[in-house]
Amino acid sequence: MAKIVIVLYPDPTVGFPPIYARDSLPVIERYPNGQTLPTPSAIDFSPGQLLGSVSGGLGLVRWLESLGHEVIVTSDKEGPDSVLDRELPDTDVVISQPFWPAYLSPERLQSAKNLKIAITAGIGSDHVDLKSAIAKGITVAEVTYCNSISVAEHTVMQVLALVRDYIPQYKIVIDGGWDIADAVSRSYDLEGMDVGVFAAGRIGRAVLERLAPFDVKLHYTDRYRLPADIEEKLGLTWHEDIHDLAKGIDVLTVHAPLTDETHGLLDDDLLATMRRGSYIVNPARGAIADRDAIVRALESGQLAGYAGDVWFPQPAPADHPWRTMPHHGMTPHTSGTSLTAQARYAAGTREILENFFAGTPIRPEYLIVEGGAYAGTGAHSYQSK
Ligand code: NDP
Repeated sequence: MAKIVIVLYPDPTVGFPPIYARDSLPVIERYPNGQTLPTPSAIDFSPGQLLGSVSGGLGLVRWLESLGHEVIVTSDKEGPDSVLDRELPDTDVVISQPFWPAYLSPERLQSAKNLKIAITAGIGSDHVDLKSAIAKGITVAEVTYCNSISVAEHTVMQVLALVRDYIPQYKIVIDGGWDIADAVSRSYDLEGMDVGVFAAGRIGRAVLERLAPFDVKLHYTDRYRLPADIEEKLGLTWHEDIHDLAKGIDVLTVHAPLTDETHGLLDDDLLATMRRGSYIVNPARGAIADRDAIVRALESGQLAGYAGDVWFPQPAPADHPWRTMPHHGMTPHTSGTSLTAQARYAAGTREILENFFAGTPIRPEYLIVEGGAYAGTGAHSYQSK
Protein backbone atom coordinates (compact mmCIF):
# COMPACT_ATOMS: atom_id res chain seq x y z
CA MET A 1 0.00 0.00 0.00
CA ALA A 2 1.22 3.49 -0.77
CA LYS A 3 1.83 6.48 1.43
CA ILE A 4 0.36 9.57 -0.19
CA VAL A 5 0.95 13.18 0.88
CA ILE A 6 -1.49 15.73 -0.49
CA VAL A 7 -0.41 19.37 -0.04
CA LEU A 8 -3.31 21.80 -0.36
CA TYR A 9 -4.04 25.40 0.56
CA PRO A 10 -5.62 26.04 3.97
CA ASP A 11 -9.40 25.92 4.47
CA PRO A 12 -11.39 29.17 4.13
CA THR A 13 -10.76 31.49 7.08
CA VAL A 14 -14.51 32.16 7.23
CA GLY A 15 -15.43 28.47 7.16
CA PHE A 16 -16.70 26.29 4.33
CA PRO A 17 -19.60 27.85 2.40
CA PRO A 18 -22.81 26.72 4.13
CA ILE A 19 -24.40 26.96 0.71
CA TYR A 20 -22.63 27.48 -2.63
CA ALA A 21 -23.42 30.50 -4.81
CA ARG A 22 -24.58 28.21 -7.63
CA ASP A 23 -26.21 24.79 -7.62
CA SER A 24 -24.33 23.15 -10.48
CA LEU A 25 -21.59 23.52 -13.07
CA PRO A 26 -22.12 23.54 -16.83
CA VAL A 27 -21.31 20.19 -18.38
CA ILE A 28 -18.43 20.37 -20.85
CA GLU A 29 -17.34 17.20 -22.61
CA ARG A 30 -14.26 18.23 -24.53
CA TYR A 31 -11.64 20.96 -24.44
CA PRO A 32 -11.30 23.22 -27.48
CA ASN A 33 -8.64 21.00 -29.08
CA GLY A 34 -10.87 17.93 -28.82
CA GLN A 35 -9.08 16.43 -25.79
CA THR A 36 -11.56 14.72 -23.47
CA LEU A 37 -12.06 15.91 -19.92
CA PRO A 38 -10.70 13.60 -17.18
CA THR A 39 -12.14 10.09 -17.26
CA PRO A 40 -11.66 8.49 -13.82
CA SER A 41 -13.75 5.39 -13.11
CA ALA A 42 -15.76 7.41 -10.52
CA ILE A 43 -15.63 10.58 -8.43
CA ASP A 44 -16.50 11.00 -4.75
CA PHE A 45 -17.53 14.65 -4.84
CA SER A 46 -20.17 16.93 -6.31
CA PRO A 47 -18.71 19.19 -9.01
CA GLY A 48 -18.79 22.73 -7.65
CA GLN A 49 -17.63 21.82 -4.14
CA LEU A 50 -14.51 23.37 -2.64
CA LEU A 51 -11.96 20.57 -3.15
CA GLY A 52 -8.64 22.41 -3.32
CA SER A 53 -8.26 23.18 0.40
CA VAL A 54 -7.23 20.74 3.11
CA SER A 55 -10.70 19.54 4.13
CA GLY A 56 -11.71 19.17 0.49
CA GLY A 57 -8.81 16.74 0.00
CA LEU A 58 -9.32 16.91 -3.78
CA GLY A 59 -12.26 14.57 -3.18
CA LEU A 60 -9.73 11.71 -3.01
CA VAL A 61 -9.28 10.82 0.64
CA ARG A 62 -12.22 8.44 1.17
CA TRP A 63 -11.42 6.56 -2.03
CA LEU A 64 -7.69 6.28 -1.30
CA GLU A 65 -8.28 5.12 2.27
CA SER A 66 -10.84 2.56 1.09
CA LEU A 67 -8.02 1.06 -1.00
CA GLY A 68 -5.87 0.78 2.13
CA HIS A 69 -3.46 3.63 1.37
CA GLU A 70 -2.12 5.95 4.03
CA VAL A 71 -3.18 9.51 3.21
CA ILE A 72 -1.86 12.69 4.79
CA VAL A 73 -3.44 15.98 3.75
CA THR A 74 -1.62 19.09 4.89
CA SER A 75 -0.97 22.73 4.07
CA ASP A 76 2.23 22.68 6.15
CA LYS A 77 4.92 22.65 3.49
CA GLU A 78 7.80 24.99 4.40
CA GLY A 79 10.80 24.41 6.62
CA PRO A 80 12.48 21.33 8.06
CA ASP A 81 9.77 20.88 10.71
CA SER A 82 6.94 20.99 8.19
CA VAL A 83 4.65 18.00 7.77
CA LEU A 84 5.85 17.72 4.17
CA ASP A 85 9.52 17.47 5.14
CA ARG A 86 8.79 15.05 7.97
CA GLU A 87 6.74 12.70 5.80
CA LEU A 88 8.79 12.86 2.58
CA PRO A 89 11.44 10.20 3.35
CA ASP A 90 8.96 7.29 3.10
CA THR A 91 6.28 8.85 0.87
CA ASP A 92 5.39 7.17 -2.43
CA VAL A 93 3.16 9.85 -3.94
CA VAL A 94 3.13 13.64 -3.52
CA ILE A 95 0.19 15.60 -4.86
CA SER A 96 0.19 19.38 -4.80
CA GLN A 97 -1.27 22.36 -6.60
CA PRO A 98 0.61 25.25 -8.21
CA PHE A 99 -1.50 27.62 -6.08
CA TRP A 100 0.12 26.24 -2.91
CA PRO A 101 3.11 24.41 -4.33
CA ALA A 102 5.02 21.71 -2.52
CA TYR A 103 8.41 22.85 -3.81
CA LEU A 104 10.23 19.60 -4.56
CA SER A 105 13.77 20.92 -4.66
CA PRO A 106 16.80 18.72 -5.44
CA GLU A 107 17.43 18.44 -1.66
CA ARG A 108 13.88 17.39 -0.94
CA LEU A 109 13.88 14.88 -3.79
CA GLN A 110 17.14 13.50 -2.42
CA SER A 111 15.45 12.84 0.91
CA ALA A 112 12.35 11.33 -0.75
CA LYS A 113 13.80 7.86 -1.09
CA ASN A 114 10.49 6.13 -1.92
CA LEU A 115 8.94 8.81 -4.13
CA LYS A 116 7.60 7.36 -7.36
CA ILE A 117 5.26 10.02 -8.67
CA ALA A 118 4.68 13.76 -8.11
CA ILE A 119 1.27 14.84 -9.37
CA THR A 120 0.34 18.45 -10.02
CA ALA A 121 -3.37 18.94 -9.49
CA GLY A 122 -3.40 21.74 -12.05
CA ILE A 123 -0.98 22.84 -14.76
CA GLY A 124 2.67 23.82 -14.40
CA SER A 125 5.15 21.48 -12.70
CA ASP A 126 7.99 23.97 -12.33
CA HIS A 127 7.76 23.61 -8.52
CA VAL A 128 9.29 20.15 -9.04
CA ASP A 129 12.98 20.08 -9.89
CA LEU A 130 12.47 18.21 -13.13
CA LYS A 131 16.15 17.45 -13.71
CA SER A 132 16.31 15.67 -10.33
CA ALA A 133 13.06 13.86 -11.06
CA ILE A 134 14.58 12.64 -14.33
CA ALA A 135 17.78 11.54 -12.59
CA LYS A 136 15.83 9.66 -9.91
CA GLY A 137 13.28 8.08 -12.25
CA ILE A 138 10.34 9.84 -10.56
CA THR A 139 7.25 10.32 -12.72
CA VAL A 140 5.84 13.86 -12.89
CA ALA A 141 2.32 14.35 -14.19
CA GLU A 142 -0.15 17.23 -14.36
CA VAL A 143 -3.75 17.65 -15.49
CA THR A 144 -3.17 19.33 -18.82
CA TYR A 145 -5.98 21.64 -19.99
CA CYS A 146 -7.95 21.35 -16.71
CA ASN A 147 -7.84 25.09 -16.03
CA SER A 148 -6.57 26.64 -19.27
CA ILE A 149 -9.87 28.34 -20.05
CA SER A 150 -10.19 29.44 -16.41
CA VAL A 151 -6.84 31.25 -16.75
CA ALA A 152 -7.75 32.69 -20.16
CA GLU A 153 -10.93 34.18 -18.67
CA HIS A 154 -8.97 35.62 -15.73
CA THR A 155 -6.48 37.14 -18.18
CA VAL A 156 -9.20 38.91 -20.14
CA MET A 157 -10.71 40.16 -16.89
CA GLN A 158 -7.36 41.57 -15.77
CA VAL A 159 -6.60 43.18 -19.14
CA LEU A 160 -9.91 45.04 -18.96
CA ALA A 161 -9.47 45.83 -15.26
CA LEU A 162 -6.09 47.46 -15.93
CA VAL A 163 -6.88 49.32 -19.13
CA ARG A 164 -10.22 50.65 -17.87
CA ASP A 165 -8.72 51.13 -14.37
CA TYR A 166 -11.64 49.28 -12.78
CA ILE A 167 -10.22 48.55 -9.34
CA PRO A 168 -9.84 52.16 -8.07
CA GLN A 169 -13.33 52.94 -9.43
CA TYR A 170 -14.83 50.04 -7.45
CA LYS A 171 -12.97 51.26 -4.37
CA ILE A 172 -14.47 54.74 -4.74
CA VAL A 173 -17.94 53.17 -4.61
CA ILE A 174 -17.08 51.07 -1.57
CA ASP A 175 -15.68 54.15 0.16
CA GLY A 176 -18.94 56.05 -0.40
CA GLY A 177 -17.53 58.46 -3.00
CA TRP A 178 -18.65 59.71 -6.43
CA ASP A 179 -15.38 61.16 -7.67
CA ILE A 180 -15.80 60.69 -11.38
CA ALA A 181 -12.80 62.75 -12.47
CA ASP A 182 -10.57 60.76 -10.14
CA ALA A 183 -12.14 57.55 -11.36
CA VAL A 184 -11.49 58.18 -15.04
CA SER A 185 -8.12 59.91 -14.95
CA ARG A 186 -6.34 56.66 -15.91
CA SER A 187 -9.19 54.93 -17.74
CA TYR A 188 -8.95 54.00 -21.45
CA ASP A 189 -10.77 51.84 -23.99
CA LEU A 190 -9.15 48.60 -25.08
CA GLU A 191 -10.59 48.95 -28.59
CA GLY A 192 -7.90 49.68 -31.16
CA MET A 193 -4.97 48.85 -28.90
CA ASP A 194 -2.12 46.56 -29.95
CA VAL A 195 -2.28 43.48 -27.73
CA GLY A 196 0.60 40.99 -27.72
CA VAL A 197 0.43 37.42 -26.48
CA PHE A 198 3.68 35.77 -25.40
CA ALA A 199 3.23 32.03 -26.06
CA ALA A 200 0.11 30.90 -27.88
CA GLY A 201 -0.38 27.47 -26.32
CA ARG A 202 -3.64 26.35 -24.78
CA ILE A 203 -4.07 29.47 -22.62
CA GLY A 204 -2.48 31.99 -24.97
CA ARG A 205 -4.56 30.87 -27.93
CA ALA A 206 -7.75 31.01 -25.85
CA VAL A 207 -6.81 34.56 -24.83
CA LEU A 208 -6.30 35.54 -28.49
CA GLU A 209 -9.70 34.09 -29.39
CA ARG A 210 -11.44 35.85 -26.51
CA LEU A 211 -9.82 39.23 -27.19
CA ALA A 212 -10.42 39.22 -30.95
CA PRO A 213 -14.04 40.49 -30.63
CA PHE A 214 -12.78 43.60 -28.79
CA ASP A 215 -11.51 44.96 -32.12
CA VAL A 216 -7.92 45.08 -30.96
CA LYS A 217 -4.87 44.49 -33.12
CA LEU A 218 -3.54 41.12 -32.06
CA HIS A 219 0.12 40.12 -32.08
CA TYR A 220 1.86 37.01 -30.78
CA THR A 221 5.06 35.05 -30.56
CA ASP A 222 5.66 31.36 -29.81
CA ARG A 223 8.29 28.79 -30.62
CA TYR A 224 6.00 27.49 -33.37
CA ARG A 225 3.59 29.55 -35.47
CA LEU A 226 -0.12 28.86 -35.30
CA PRO A 227 -1.73 27.46 -38.47
CA ALA A 228 -2.13 30.08 -41.20
CA ASP A 229 -5.95 29.84 -41.16
CA ILE A 230 -6.00 30.69 -37.42
CA GLU A 231 -3.65 33.62 -37.96
CA GLU A 232 -5.93 34.87 -40.72
CA LYS A 233 -9.19 34.30 -38.82
CA LEU A 234 -7.97 36.18 -35.74
CA GLY A 235 -5.98 38.79 -37.69
CA LEU A 236 -2.73 37.90 -35.93
CA THR A 237 0.63 39.50 -36.53
CA TRP A 238 3.48 37.07 -35.86
CA HIS A 239 6.72 38.20 -34.19
CA GLU A 240 10.03 36.34 -34.11
CA ASP A 241 10.53 36.67 -30.36
CA ILE A 242 9.35 38.54 -27.29
CA HIS A 243 11.79 41.38 -27.93
CA ASP A 244 10.26 42.07 -31.33
CA LEU A 245 6.77 41.63 -29.88
CA ALA A 246 7.18 43.85 -26.82
CA LYS A 247 8.25 47.02 -28.61
CA GLY A 248 5.12 47.53 -30.67
CA ILE A 249 2.25 46.80 -28.30
CA ASP A 250 0.14 48.44 -25.61
CA VAL A 251 -0.78 45.30 -23.67
CA LEU A 252 1.34 42.17 -23.16
CA THR A 253 -0.08 38.94 -21.80
CA VAL A 254 2.27 36.14 -20.76
CA HIS A 255 1.47 32.42 -21.13
CA ALA A 256 4.81 30.58 -21.44
CA PRO A 257 5.96 27.98 -18.96
CA LEU A 258 8.72 28.88 -16.52
CA THR A 259 11.91 27.38 -17.93
CA ASP A 260 15.58 28.35 -18.01
CA GLU A 261 14.76 30.31 -21.18
CA THR A 262 11.85 32.29 -19.74
CA HIS A 263 13.12 32.90 -16.19
CA GLY A 264 13.50 36.66 -15.56
CA LEU A 265 12.65 37.54 -19.16
CA LEU A 266 10.59 40.62 -18.27
CA ASP A 267 13.55 42.66 -17.02
CA ASP A 268 14.55 46.34 -17.06
CA ASP A 269 15.98 46.07 -20.58
CA LEU A 270 12.87 44.50 -22.09
CA LEU A 271 10.48 46.83 -20.24
CA ALA A 272 12.45 49.85 -21.48
CA THR A 273 11.72 48.86 -25.08
CA MET A 274 7.93 48.91 -24.55
CA ARG A 275 5.68 51.88 -25.24
CA ARG A 276 5.39 54.20 -22.25
CA GLY A 277 2.21 53.32 -20.40
CA SER A 278 2.06 49.68 -21.46
CA TYR A 279 0.20 47.07 -19.44
CA ILE A 280 1.34 43.54 -18.59
CA VAL A 281 -0.87 40.67 -17.47
CA ASN A 282 1.15 37.62 -16.44
CA PRO A 283 -0.85 34.67 -15.14
CA ALA A 284 1.89 32.21 -16.16
CA ARG A 285 4.63 32.29 -13.52
CA GLY A 286 5.79 35.21 -11.37
CA ALA A 287 9.46 34.40 -11.90
CA ILE A 288 9.16 35.08 -15.65
CA ALA A 289 9.21 38.70 -14.52
CA ASP A 290 12.06 40.38 -12.66
CA ARG A 291 10.19 41.30 -9.49
CA ASP A 292 11.91 44.63 -8.82
CA ALA A 293 12.06 45.68 -12.47
CA ILE A 294 8.25 45.53 -12.56
CA VAL A 295 8.03 47.74 -9.46
CA ARG A 296 10.47 50.24 -10.96
CA ALA A 297 8.59 50.38 -14.25
CA LEU A 298 5.26 51.02 -12.50
CA GLU A 299 6.78 53.72 -10.33
CA SER A 300 8.39 55.49 -13.29
CA GLY A 301 5.26 55.25 -15.45
CA GLN A 302 6.94 53.07 -18.07
CA LEU A 303 4.25 50.54 -17.22
CA ALA A 304 0.70 51.82 -16.62
CA GLY A 305 -0.36 48.60 -14.95
CA TYR A 306 0.68 45.05 -14.05
CA ALA A 307 -1.59 42.17 -13.12
CA GLY A 308 -1.49 38.44 -12.86
CA ASP A 309 -1.89 35.92 -10.12
CA VAL A 310 1.36 34.04 -9.89
CA TRP A 311 4.06 35.11 -7.47
CA PHE A 312 7.36 33.76 -6.25
CA PRO A 313 7.46 32.31 -3.70
CA GLN A 314 3.94 31.21 -2.84
CA PRO A 315 2.35 32.13 -0.56
CA ALA A 316 3.84 35.57 -1.15
CA PRO A 317 5.31 37.10 2.01
CA ALA A 318 3.37 39.99 3.58
CA ASP A 319 6.09 42.42 2.49
CA HIS A 320 6.28 41.25 -1.15
CA PRO A 321 6.60 44.54 -3.11
CA TRP A 322 3.95 43.48 -5.61
CA ARG A 323 1.34 43.81 -2.87
CA THR A 324 1.91 47.57 -2.60
CA MET A 325 3.34 48.66 -5.97
CA PRO A 326 1.23 51.28 -7.79
CA HIS A 327 -1.40 50.44 -10.41
CA HIS A 328 -1.39 46.69 -9.97
CA GLY A 329 -4.28 44.31 -10.27
CA MET A 330 -2.72 41.24 -8.66
CA THR A 331 -4.80 38.43 -7.26
CA PRO A 332 -3.49 35.58 -5.12
CA HIS A 333 -2.98 32.50 -7.26
CA THR A 334 -6.64 31.91 -8.01
CA SER A 335 -7.15 32.01 -11.78
CA GLY A 336 -6.81 28.26 -12.23
CA THR A 337 -8.62 27.20 -9.09
CA SER A 338 -12.17 28.35 -9.64
CA LEU A 339 -14.69 25.81 -8.35
CA THR A 340 -15.17 24.83 -11.99
CA ALA A 341 -11.48 24.11 -12.46
CA GLN A 342 -11.22 22.25 -9.14
CA ALA A 343 -13.79 19.68 -10.28
CA ARG A 344 -11.69 19.01 -13.38
CA TYR A 345 -8.29 18.76 -11.78
CA ALA A 346 -9.59 16.65 -8.88
CA ALA A 347 -11.04 14.21 -11.43
CA GLY A 348 -7.83 14.34 -13.47
CA THR A 349 -5.70 13.61 -10.41
CA ARG A 350 -7.87 10.59 -9.69
CA GLU A 351 -7.48 9.41 -13.29
CA ILE A 352 -3.67 9.64 -12.97
CA LEU A 353 -3.73 7.78 -9.64
CA GLU A 354 -5.96 5.03 -11.05
CA ASN A 355 -3.43 4.49 -13.86
CA PHE A 356 -0.52 4.63 -11.45
CA PHE A 357 -2.02 2.01 -9.09
CA ALA A 358 -3.07 -0.24 -11.98
CA GLY A 359 0.26 0.09 -13.75
CA THR A 360 -1.51 1.25 -16.90
CA PRO A 361 -0.25 4.13 -19.05
CA ILE A 362 -0.96 7.68 -17.93
CA ARG A 363 -2.25 9.74 -20.85
CA PRO A 364 0.70 11.29 -22.71
CA GLU A 365 -0.94 14.71 -22.42
CA TYR A 366 -0.68 14.44 -18.60
CA LEU A 367 2.96 13.31 -18.54
CA ILE A 368 5.84 15.69 -17.90
CA VAL A 369 8.58 13.25 -16.86
CA GLU A 370 8.55 9.46 -17.00
CA GLY A 371 11.16 6.72 -17.07
CA GLY A 372 14.07 9.10 -16.58
CA ALA A 373 13.20 11.48 -19.43
CA TYR A 374 10.80 14.22 -20.42
CA ALA A 375 7.66 12.59 -21.76
CA GLY A 376 4.35 13.55 -23.36
CA THR A 377 3.50 17.21 -22.73
CA GLY A 378 6.78 17.62 -20.84
CA ALA A 379 8.81 16.61 -23.88
CA HIS A 380 7.01 19.27 -25.89
CA SER A 381 6.77 22.10 -23.37
CA TYR A 382 9.54 21.77 -20.78
CA GLN A 383 12.45 20.53 -22.84
CA SER A 384 14.68 23.32 -24.13
CA LYS A 385 14.60 23.56 -27.89
P1 NDP B 1 0.94 25.14 -23.19
O1 NDP B 1 2.03 24.15 -23.09
O2 NDP B 1 -0.31 24.79 -23.93
O3 NDP B 1 1.47 26.49 -23.82
C1 NDP B 1 2.72 27.01 -23.53
C2 NDP B 1 3.22 27.64 -24.80
O4 NDP B 1 4.45 28.30 -24.49
C3 NDP B 1 3.52 26.63 -25.90
O5 NDP B 1 2.89 27.06 -27.08
C4 NDP B 1 5.04 26.68 -25.98
O6 NDP B 1 5.56 26.53 -27.27
C5 NDP B 1 5.31 28.09 -25.59
N1 NDP B 1 6.67 28.34 -25.17
C6 NDP B 1 7.41 27.62 -24.30
N2 NDP B 1 8.60 28.19 -24.14
C7 NDP B 1 8.62 29.28 -24.93
C8 NDP B 1 9.60 30.27 -25.21
N3 NDP B 1 10.80 30.24 -24.62
N4 NDP B 1 9.28 31.24 -26.09
C9 NDP B 1 8.06 31.27 -26.68
N5 NDP B 1 7.10 30.36 -26.45
C10 NDP B 1 7.37 29.39 -25.59
O7 NDP B 1 0.59 25.54 -21.70
P2 NDP B 1 -0.72 26.27 -21.15
O8 NDP B 1 -1.15 27.30 -22.11
O9 NDP B 1 -1.68 25.27 -20.67
O10 NDP B 1 -0.10 26.95 -19.85
C11 NDP B 1 0.95 27.92 -19.97
C12 NDP B 1 1.54 28.21 -18.61
O11 NDP B 1 0.56 28.89 -17.84
C13 NDP B 1 1.89 26.96 -17.79
O12 NDP B 1 3.19 26.51 -18.07
C14 NDP B 1 1.76 27.44 -16.39
O13 NDP B 1 3.01 27.91 -15.92
C15 NDP B 1 0.78 28.61 -16.48
N6 NDP B 1 -0.50 28.29 -15.85
C16 NDP B 1 -0.94 29.12 -14.86
C17 NDP B 1 -2.11 28.82 -14.21
C18 NDP B 1 -2.65 29.71 -13.15
O14 NDP B 1 -3.48 29.26 -12.36
N7 NDP B 1 -2.27 30.98 -13.10
C19 NDP B 1 -2.90 27.62 -14.52
C20 NDP B 1 -2.40 26.90 -15.67
C21 NDP B 1 -1.22 27.22 -16.26
P3 NDP B 1 5.48 25.25 -28.17
O15 NDP B 1 4.45 24.34 -27.61
O16 NDP B 1 5.06 25.84 -29.45
O17 NDP B 1 6.81 24.66 -28.12
